[in-house]
Amino acid sequence: MANRVYNFNPGPSTLPLDVLKIVQEELLDYRGTGMSVMEISHRSAEYTEINDTAISLAKEIMGLGDDYSVIFVGGGASTQFAMIPMNFLHEGETAAYVDTGTWSTKAIKEAEKMGKVHLAASSKEGDYKFIPKIEDIKYPDDAAYLHITTNNTIKGTQYQIYPDTGNVPLIADMSSDICSRVIDFSKFSLIYAGAQKNLGPAGVTMVIIRNDLLEKRKDGLPTMLDYKTHTEKKSLFNTPPVFAVYVVKLVLEWIKNLGGLKAVQKLNRAKKDIIYALLDEYPDYFRGNVQPESRSWMNVTFRLPTENLETKFVDEAKKAGFIGLKGHRSVGGIRVSLYNAMTVEGAQKVADFMESFMKENG
Ligand SMILES: *Cc1c(COP(=O)(O)O)cnc(C)c1O
Repeated sequence: MANRVYNFNPGPSTLPLDVLKIVQEELLDYRGTGMSVMEISHRSAEYTEINDTAISLAKEIMGLGDDYSVIFVGGGASTQFAMIPMNFLHEGETAAYVDTGTWSTKAIKEAEKMGKVHLAASSKEGDYKFIPKIEDIKYPDDAAYLHITTNNTIKGTQYQIYPDTGNVPLIADMSSDICSRVIDFSKFSLIYAGAQKNLGPAGVTMVIIRNDLLEKRKDGLPTMLDYKTHTEKKSLFNTPPVFAVYVVKLVLEWIKNLGGLKAVQKLNRAKKDIIYALLDEYPDYFRGNVQPESRSWMNVTFRLPTENLETKFVDEAKKAGFIGLKGHRSVGGIRVSLYNAMTVEGAQKVADFMESFMKENG
């Protein structure tokens, strides 16, 4: 057995061990082809099956019907920041954005290059420690769309409820909490997620678009930056990132076999409860960065009493087999990322480590 650590990396991040084992088993000879998935044609029967299964599993797990298209594209979530306004922010229209931190700020910056942006709400003045209240999110009735970042990976906040936008399409960057719990995905007209946090390896972004929004896109877009190119050709207009899509398919199968999002939610709830219980019990030592009602289930962030203690914490954690606990440089402190593939055992073990560290360094 390989010597695996408890991997709390914020992204790329841990993958389910069962999935990695299948990848290993199938690597040299994918289902009797005598080739690895990386070496077969993206037009082959084998890859067609992988692609079709990934699409249908994503819809099944998220409870979405045929009014949605699922595509797998390159360029990361960051390319979506530009593609969304490029496709859907028409001349004279206004796009609305909620600013909840680094990633939404970047999305806003791209939209501003393409057209008019309305800031629907922001938690910037409060150092992004909270998600704005739903009733404080305000935008014109005829906005092209409202864009939100459902989980703020760096700061550690997450929407617990989503705005009802009526006729205004709701668009979400779900890169760091996609498929992590039961939500009503049909509220959204477009969802995108870089795979490398909750879905698979880096190199592919899953985009889910409702067909009525798709029909509203602009004419004359560069082919590769037009969503329709990819929906029409089922992500096979050009060579897709085949290996990454293959692993995403395996992760989706893993989610389905666990019992779908209900089962995933139960595990994720247990994990975050273990860590937040420590923050609540010892708030003078584990100093949470965000307001309790906005706490992320995926990225728990906190400071220790001194920066020296934080450095020591990260070093000692590493020696004890807990990797990736250093907070983002813009926030500092500690970040415990609890994506789908992190086990409850891993969360319990790191909580035990936190408690003994506190007792030794009180
Ligand atoms: C990681 C992350 C991104 C950036 O994803 P890339 O695939 O690296 O472009 C965007 N948004 C959120 C919420 C993220 O967590």
